[in-house]
Amino acid sequence: MNIQENYNHIKNQLPEHVQLVAVSKTHPVSAIQEVHDLGQRVFGENKVQELMEKYPLLPKDIQWHLIGHLQTNKVKYIAEFVDTIQSVDSDKLLLEINKEAGKHNRIIKVLLQVKIAEEESKFGLEIEEAKDLFQKYINGEYQNIEITGLMGMATFTEDESQIKEEFLNLKSLFDELNQQKPLKTLSMGMSDDFPIAIDCGANSVRVGSAIFGRRDYSK
Ligand SMILES: *Cc1c(COP(=O)(O)O)cnc(C)c1O
Repeated sequence: MNIQENYNHIKNQLPEHVQLVAVSKTHPVSAIQEVHDLGQRVFGENKVQELMEKYPLLPKDIQWHLIGHLQTNKVKYIAEFVDTIQSVDSDKLLLEINKEAGKHNRIIKVLLQVKIAEEESKFGLEIEEAKDLFQKYINGEYQNIEITGLMGMATFTEDESQIKEEFLNLKSLFDELNQQKPLKTLSMGMSDDFPIAIDCGANSVRVGSAIFGRRDYSK
């Protein structure tokens, strides 16, 4: 399968209301350009350095999402152009994004990343921490940020019932916060589990290898 076939295959599986974030990490700008030419405008990268290298080489109508763990000292490098930061996992980071967005007179959209997986390795806020941050947001503490929703990653397992349970946990937090202040985006699901995520209420999925092919980290 080539990129175009992969892309069309994924797009055909997504209901109208589900946004596709094409995760292009480790793949060259030529591949991103190819997917852009097919009409895709939302792309996700997980490293600041890589995003900074690719950004100037690609069309300016791309909405870049940062989906990987972000260190506070790197926010300044992307604050001018990043569309959405999906991986907000601390108050400190939120304050830094707010400050840097202010310098550029913009509002940066963010998702709170919530830890729903069993694995220790996954980043993210505990449910209670996410609720606390959202409360501060509602109280007006971050003027240059819009919290548009939540992001989560399920445990890497074959056990579909576990994946489903984790996604449903995030969906129920989403519904709860959404009652306090309307949210737009529930970002869950990757190449291997996006159909389950959509069944559980995701309206944004982050798909990489199913579009671009396997990632080669040896390069
Ligand atoms: C790499 C990555 C993805 C995409 O993973 P695939 O399995 O290649 O679809 C999605 N979300 C995050 C946070 C990632 O780091």
